[in-house]
Amino acid sequence: MSEKFDVIVVGAGPAGTSCAYECAKAGLNVIQIERGEYPGAKNVMGGVLYRKQMEDIIPEFWKEAPVERPVIEQRLMMLDKESAITIGYKGLEFAREPYNAFTVLRSKFDQWFASKAVEQGSLLITETVVLEVIVEDGRVIGVRTDRPDGDVYADVVVLADGVNSLLGKQLGFHKELRPDEVALAVMEVINLPAERIEERFNLEPNQGCTYEIFGDGTNGILGTAFIYTNKESINIGVGAMLSGMIRERLRPHDLLDRLKSHPLIRPLIKGGEPQEYLAHLIPEGGFRSIPKIVGNGVLVVGDAAQFVNGVHREGSNMAMTSGRLAAETIIMAKEAGDFSENMLDSYRIKVLDSFIGKDLKKYEDIHLFEKNPQYFKEYLPALNRAASEFFTVDGTPKKEKQKKMLQLMTQSKSKLKVINDLYKAWRVMK
Ligand code: FAD
Repeated sequence: MSEKFDVIVVGAGPAGTSCAYECAKAGLNVIQIERGEYPGAKNVMGGVLYRKQMEDIIPEFWKEAPVERPVIEQRLMMLDKESAITIGYKGLEFAREPYNAFTVLRSKFDQWFASKAVEQGSLLITETVVLEVIVEDGRVIGVRTDRPDGDVYADVVVLADGVNSLLGKQLGFHKELRPDEVALAVMEVINLPAERIEERFNLEPNQGCTYEIFGDGTNGILGTAFIYTNKESINIGVGAMLSGMIRERLRPHDLLDRLKSHPLIRPLIKGGEPQEYLAHLIPEGGFRSIPKIVGNGVLVVGDAAQFVNGVHREGSNMAMTSGRLAAETIIMAKEAGDFSENMLDSYRIKVLDSFIGKDLKKYEDIHLFEKNPQYFKEYLPALNRAASEFFTVDGTPKKEKQKKMLQLMTQSKSKLKVINDLYKAWRVMK
């Protein structure tokens, strides 16, 4: 395999395939190397794929891609032991073209997407592990794979190898991930007949919904639990900061078992048949954890560059946009015949100037909620108790009720401390 290509892409997740697709479409000689048996075989995602960033690459993709249901309703649940405050939005405009988002099963979607890159002329090699990046005179010139004679050379190598990018580490672009930079997520795909999903979630055929669950779903650790509806299955999972799990001595599958047996969640999955169990890390370090993403002859995209917005559950879209922007830069570099760090740096500038850089910067202090567990562990249950008081009709005059609700909110803390915490939270989210 010691051939020379224009571009080597390591990894066939959404970031790598977006880059391979765009480069091949522009006529570049591309090889994409994936360690899994097929693209998607090793990939885990809650399952919401956003239309806009995918459509920037393949217009009207939903007409042929294996999508599950268009997402028409998104609910946020603040869950306590046996209650929840729920807010959300359901809009029928999301059930029609051009749509907003779809649920997908990555094992099907990634295969389809990679096949589109192949149609553009990209060469896809599966069941092949890239062991290391080949560096000569300070420049990345290729990769070493686990195949016999498995060295491959190119003008530029794109690292799209996911959250724990060993190749990025080899180049010294980033260090070992710290437990407060990653969430550990586990999820199950549970089979349920379509009619039952539609009854339980109040949906018509070809409509889907998502639940993001805070508080008791993660035992108060910073993170979210989730439920997403597919055509004939439900994805249910929990992702919580690794630092929090270590602190609380929790194991991820215990969190998932707790969620599945929660009295408000259990009826939604009752009678379903577990089909698949998956676990994965999610890069949640935010803006400050972005590693070096450009070097001589090398670019880093997607999760390998830590591009995930945990607040809005956006990762696959950032992966696709970063892959596309990397391709734009490579095409420009090819025209100039210059693959130096200086030339490729326009990728970094474009990414930071896009919604990726701007959104990650906006939430750069989100770890306030991890360092201060009172938000999910005390205020959220207190809000539930206040809501219960509000909805209980027991003859108490409303003015007295309001007072009682305020007392419930500030029970174990001074009013000043509560106001200070609320102010800090507002500053992080604003
Ligand atoms: P990946 O999808 O991880 O792909 C990396 C690929 O590289 C893999 O196929 C892997 O096999 C391959 N690879 C790695 N190392 C090598 C090597 N050395 N040689 C060859 N191949 C290699 N995002 C959303 O937008 N919506 C959601 O609802 C959502 N939910 C999520 C729920 C969970 C539980 C998790 C874990 C993540 C979720 N995300 C979600 C985030 C999203 O999945 C990621 O941001 C996205 O998959 C990143 O794409 P990627 O291509 O960068 O990396």
